[in-house]
Amino acid sequence: MKVIVIGLGAMGSAAAQHLAERGCSVRGFDQFTPPHSQGSSHGLTRIFRQAYFEDHRYVPLLIRSFELWQKLERDTGGRLLHLPGALVLGPVNGRLVKRSAESATKFGLPHEILGASELKRRYPVFDIRPDTHGLLEKNAGYLRLEGCVEQHLRQAAKAGAKLHTNKPILDWQDEQPGSSITVRTAKGTYSADHLVITAGPWAPQVLASLALPMRTTRQVLYWFSPKGSIEHYREDRLPVYLIEAEGNELLLYGFPLTGPDSEGVKVALHGSEEACTPQTICRDIRLSDEQSIRARLANTLPELAGRLLRAETCLYTVTPDENFLLGTHPHNPAVTIAAGFSGHGFKFAPVIGEIIADLVLLGSTAANIDMFSLNRFRSAQPVPP
Ligand SMILES: Cc1cc2nc3c(=O)[nH]c(=O)nc-3n(C[C@H](O)[C@H](O)[C@H](O)COP(=O)(O)OP(=O)(O)OC[C@H]3O[C@@H](n4cnc5c(N)ncnc54)[C@H](O)[C@@H]3O)c2cc1C
Repeated sequence: MKVIVIGLGAMGSAAAQHLAERGCSVRGFDQFTPPHSQGSSHGLTRIFRQAYFEDHRYVPLLIRSFELWQKLERDTGGRLLHLPGALVLGPVNGRLVKRSAESATKFGLPHEILGASELKRRYPVFDIRPDTHGLLEKNAGYLRLEGCVEQHLRQAAKAGAKLHTNKPILDWQDEQPGSSITVRTAKGTYSADHLVITAGPWAPQVLASLALPMRTTRQVLYWFSPKGSIEHYREDRLPVYLIEAEGNELLLYGFPLTGPDSEGVKVALHGSEEACTPQTICRDIRLSDEQSIRARLANTLPELAGRLLRAETCLYTVTPDENFLLGTHPHNPAVTIAAGFSGHGFKFAPVIGEIIADLVLLGSTAANIDMFSLNRFRSAQPVPP
């Protein structure tokens, strides 16, 4: 079967690999040369965790993703997944600790619950309040994201995929469901039996005719040189972490030191109200960005807020319920869509690639993807083709 993939970022690179390895004749297109810094997949690292507070229905997908990341490492001989653990911090009955514990218990994921005094003893970098609890998950940590995209693309090419970079797809035709799909570039057209659209933050534009509810927002990542000793931030002492938001605050998350000391320690806020597109995003770092991260660090990791070494912007593509959009195009069974990863999709990339290959080749998947249905926001009145 001939398949065209539009977008070779996190999801498209994985889809290209799985489709090519399962015997499809794959042509992948990207407007840039991935990994690149214009979309949602840059900034060195992404958190990987399985005890999912967001919804326990994600856990089977994460367990499969964990296997597939490890397989990718074995097949390519490179280290992509680091497992210093993941620590969620918050009130014992708060969303992060309670719901992570529920997911971990339900699926038998190795974890520990830590009280305030133990947290203070093990992790002196945090400002721990007496009512703070922590859940430390063992098989969790971070992925080296640019390496992950590179390796997925390399494996795809090895399995025969033809990858076209710096070649934007200008439009695609789906006017005759059941016939072949044609995509147009500045230099010519290409046809295939099936089209996969993994356009990341460009998805609202590429899929404009479907008017799927997706909002792209501006996010900022920061790398600080800590005020005190950097030793506390080394990977053997500090896991990745997420700290529950209170009131109007945003969830804070961060990483241990993942590179040379001179790179600094990465930290960020999850979510933002600043809507933009990949074309309109303000990529400059404003004084107000730095002020907001420093304000949040002041009562969570005060010693981390030393000199700001570097900061960069990135884009989330968020759905109203923050669950993904994954499935077959509502009006054309020859088009598969994966979008709206809502700021937490990277860790799923290989399992999303596998599911896309199922949908393309079998028309269905054994994985439970009901909550990602493209129709869930329009149950009242389906939009006619
Ligand atoms: C700051 C930040 C922190 C995050 N942290 C985490 C985390 O810790 N853990 C986690 O699991 N997830 C995290 N995420 C989310 C995760 O990174 C994203 O969900 C994921 O990278 C999205 O992948 P994608 O393939 O949808 O988009 P992308 O990787 O951006 O890929 C889309 C690709 O499509 C191409 N494209 C678009 N339109 C066209 C066209 N017309 N023609 C050709 N090519 C086209 C683009 O050039 C791009 O390469 C974070 C995201 C951000 C921004």
